[in-house]
Amino acid sequence: MEIRVERSVRRQRTVSARFEHGILVIRIPASLTLEEEQRWIHRVQQRLTPLHTPGADDRELSDRATKLAQRYLPVHLPSFQIRYVNNQQWRWGSCSPQTGEIRLSHRLAQLPEWVRDYVIIHELVHLIYPNHSNQFWRLVARYPLAERARGFLIALDAIEHNPHSLAGTSSEEHLERTSNTMLTKE
Ligand SMILES: [Zn+2]
Repeated sequence: MEIRVERSVRRQRTVSARFEHGILVIRIPASLTLEEEQRWIHRVQQRLTPLHTPGADDRELSDRATKLAQRYLPVHLPSFQIRYVNNQQWRWGSCSPQTGEIRLSHRLAQLPEWVRDYVIIHELVHLIYPNHSNQFWRLVARYPLAERARGFLIALDAIEHNPHSLAGTSSEEHLERTSNTMLTKE
């Protein structure tokens, strides 16, 4: 990956990174030391590593997300990439609003399509609201099966974790359990 670092005297604290004609351009304050510069380059690269070449199922997922957004979300969404991952860190999905990265658990591919659609919508709305506020839920609720799908996932969690009881689970906690990129508490 070709990287160009530009130092700016006008910049005080902020660091920005973006692709320009295939080159990763990182802009940093002129006051940073070389060591800090290296640290920033490393940090930006780490952020980018999870982006991989999408497979066929990821393309299908991406098309589906675009369709769902057009149909149910009457807002302008920032650009995003969505893909499947085999990751046990969180159960169903996660969203990094800063990078526009949405990851869905491979396990969702085995669930009914309307449930997977709900998780896609849920994560898409996190691009706008990185929380579980009332505004967040109002937008999610534009997908008519949202409540039913939440119930489905809560029940599934309960059955898998405690076959004798359906009580005591929180769907949100289970949806994005320990994702460090999403706030799971309001
Ligand atoms: Zn969420």
